[in-house]
Amino acid sequence: MIKKHRLLKQQIKYSKLDIKKINMEQELGLYPKSFSLPIGLQFELTSKCNLFCKHCYNVSGENDKKDSMDIDKWKKLVDDIIKSGGIFQCIISGGEPLLMGDSLYDIMNPLHEDGTAFILITNGMLVNNDTIKKLKKYNFYWVQVSIDDVLAEAHDDFREHIGSWEKAINAAFLFAGAGFPLRIAHSTTPKNLERLPDMIDLAYKLGASSIVCGSIMPSGRANENSNIYSHTDEYFNKLYSTIEICQAKYSGRMEVLINSDLVVDMEMKQHTPNSAAVIRPNGNVRMDCTMPFTIGNVLEDSIVNIWQEVGINSWNSELANDYIKSLDEFSNHPTHTNHIDLDIKLYEEKK
Ligand code: SF4
Repeated sequence: MIKKHRLLKQQIKYSKLDIKKINMEQELGLYPKSFSLPIGLQFELTSKCNLFCKHCYNVSGENDKKDSMDIDKWKKLVDDIIKSGGIFQCIISGGEPLLMGDSLYDIMNPLHEDGTAFILITNGMLVNNDTIKKLKKYNFYWVQVSIDDVLAEAHDDFREHIGSWEKAINAAFLFAGAGFPLRIAHSTTPKNLERLPDMIDLAYKLGASSIVCGSIMPSGRANENSNIYSHTDEYFNKLYSTIEICQAKYSGRMEVLINSDLVVDMEMKQHTPNSAAVIRPNGNVRMDCTMPFTIGNVLEDSIVNIWQEVGINSWNSELANDYIKSLDEFSNHPTHTNHIDLDIKLYEEKK
């Protein structure tokens, strides 16, 4: 059993307080009991990637596979979303979303004109001055570039591509230099934990406004690479105390964040109104990236129907409850591996 570090205890405490606050506001009629449409959506625009990272949670980069959602289908979906009331936040991810070329902007433009703000998640490989110029007009919560180490060769090995570190560093410089709110995402492993303080210093030098660190999710390709995990108390305590020290060091200058614990995250989702979903390159609509539940497919039904018939209450469905209860303390499931085994269809349960 992991001895819970102070930082994890804090996460648990704050999420319980948040749940309590939202529930009280609901009683007073100040917060909705449910959202009749999602307020945020993540678009996993493509499963194609120009890297083949050891930890890829959704097994992107198997580039011979064809995506069912082509550009016209994404554009039609965006049109439907706007006609049904629009969304506040859209996370653009993949695979690598910049592989969409200029088609990416055809998807983003109508949402932008409708007032949606974005989070862009990229590996930085294709970012150049032209990309920066084209992305400049959008409103971003943040732009996220993944950098896993201060050592180029360690990042390149993890990402299975020589030269990927240099490209990610260059992308971070370009984004920060052009005034984008830059977030660095760092996958922490037993191998790079020693260098995490240097990595956080590097993020600050690159001009990041935040860095998010944390252990790798037991999902997708990470399952084939068990040496990128550790489940020891020693590892977790070192990770949490390093983050705590760096939070104090960069207080007021750069946010140093740790991925939220999956169990804490699930509790929050089960006790507050569902507000978001993920749309995959095959049209499947998932509850989120971490839980293997599909609530519908936008190639078969409208996003409004999918949301209103299944999505709204999906976190409290019997299947989801049983699944979440079966996760172990490291968020592994005894019989089902996220993004390796087939998704569980909540909408079939409903029928
Ligand atoms: S982790 Fe990101 S960059 Fe790496 S293969 Fe997956 S989608 Fe591509």
